[in-house]
Amino acid sequence: MPERVRPIEEALPGHKRYIELHQQGWNNGEIADAMGVSRERVRQVLSFYGLKSVKSASRTVADKQLVDAICRLYDFEDLREIAKSMRVAASALEEAVRQRDPVALTLRAQQQAENHKAALEQRLQEKLAYWKSVSPIGLLTVMSMRRDEFGEFRAGAQCECGRETSVRLGYLRRGLVLSCGKPGCHSQVRASAGVFKAKARQAAKNEPKHRTARA
Ligand SMILES: [Zn+2]
Repeated sequence: MPERVRPIEEALPGHKRYIELHQQGWNNGEIADAMGVSRERVRQVLSFYGLKSVKSASRTVADKQLVDAICRLYDFEDLREIAKSMRVAASALEEAVRQRDPVALTLRAQQQAENHKAALEQRLQEKLAYWKSVSPIGLLTVMSMRRDEFGEFRAGAQCECGRETSVRLGYLRRGLVLSCGKPGCHSQVRASAGVFKAKARQAAKNEPKHRTARA
């Protein structure tokens, strides 16, 4: 049996905000974001009143708002946050900015990438300093630190025999890799495996925890 379309004037109190945003030209995805519900929920609510999602935000951004938004983008504010505070649809604001000053849109992304890079570099330096200070782990002395292609920390280390090797920090922490692995070194490690492993695990336990400092 087909559902009855409810007149907007008789909207339930909990539905009024959906209708308001819809009438301001927000599309269902944007309403869902703003209300903290699923897109499907927005579609459901609007369908009670016979309303369908607008294809893309048709709401125009006032010129003064646009200038203001561009200034804020140059201060590295987030476009979605700006849109929210101006109560305009993010997609509409983005499109308006793109037409006026496309550079403003790429600034924050660049800034974030730079911050990210700097933070990673600092973390690598901290890890390197720590693992150097607790070296040797087994026969390995940590010399360098990087992130590998899987996003894992990987230490460059020198074995007591002089060979250089590269080891996942996770393996070093658990005492799973304790030498370059060549037969002579391997048998040396085996002779003291218990002590070496215990030291590796203790070092892992004492490793400073990464503080996620997000600006
Ligand atoms: Zn070796």
